Amino acid sequence: MNRLLLVVVAVIVIIVIAGLAYYFATSQAPTKEYLVVGTSPDFPPFEYIDEEGNVVGFDIDLIRLLAQKAGYKDIKIVTMDFDSLIPALTQGKIDVIASGMTITEERKKVVDFTDPYWEADQAILVREDSGFMPKSIDDLNGKTVGVQTGTTGADYVKSYAEEHGLNINVKEYSSFVLAVQDLVNGRIDAVVVDSPVAKMFEQKYPVTIATIIKTGEQYGFAVRKGETELLQALNKALHEVKNSPEWNKLIEKYFGSAG
Ligand code: GLN
Repeated sequence: MNRLLLVVVAVIVIIVIAGLAYYFATSQAPTKEYLVVGTSPDFPPFEYIDEEGNVVGFDIDLIRLLAQKAGYKDIKIVTMDFDSLIPALTQGKIDVIASGMTITEERKKVVDFTDPYWEADQAILVREDSGFMPKSIDDLNGKTVGVQTGTTGADYVKSYAEEHGLNINVKEYSSFVLAVQDLVNGRIDAVVVDSPVAKMFEQKYPVTIATIIKTGEQYGFAVRKGETELLQALNKALHEVKNSPEWNKLIEKYFGSAG
């Protein structure tokens, strides 16, 4: 009799444990607590370092919102140079890139992008007091131009110069902030950078936008190829946020009312 009771109890215990295991395995999607976000914080107002040394910005707030909506507890931020982001993603060091990254055909071969969340062009930035006012890329002939390695701006200047036989000395920097500092110090003649970021640099440094080159770029968040579940969850959350008052609040916070 005692033995039978023991067997019955054992069977019940096993069923309960199996049930709980099944419940936790299936109910807790996503299975990870934190979404690991890679960013290059030299691209204000999308990602930059504030006075207290924190990584902040439009992209950071937005991806945090999306992650939380997708069921993550929070995000973990990993910073690196812009051109290290895609390798870090494909090697599994980060789960998503949030770094004002333009959706390009080239990049789409290696990563998957969410739907676009922002639009930008390229701007030619010059020193306020230099008297040099290029109206187009052609006017950069014979000049030294700073870009950030691995960006669409860098590609644009280099391929344009090559195609049009221009003699532009392209100086590559690991970050746009360093390029702008060299511009301010007079070491280079211009910087080619995304237009919304150029506007922020105009406010922070004695530099001015000489001209805007229409490139019609769109920013997206990037995930590893084949991470369909994460991609869909982020896209769903992105649409929710865009259709909620949170979207305008974010724009207001990082771009001011001019947006
Ligand atoms: N949007 C540009 C690109 O994708 C620049 C991004 C950046 O420097 N963070 O190349």
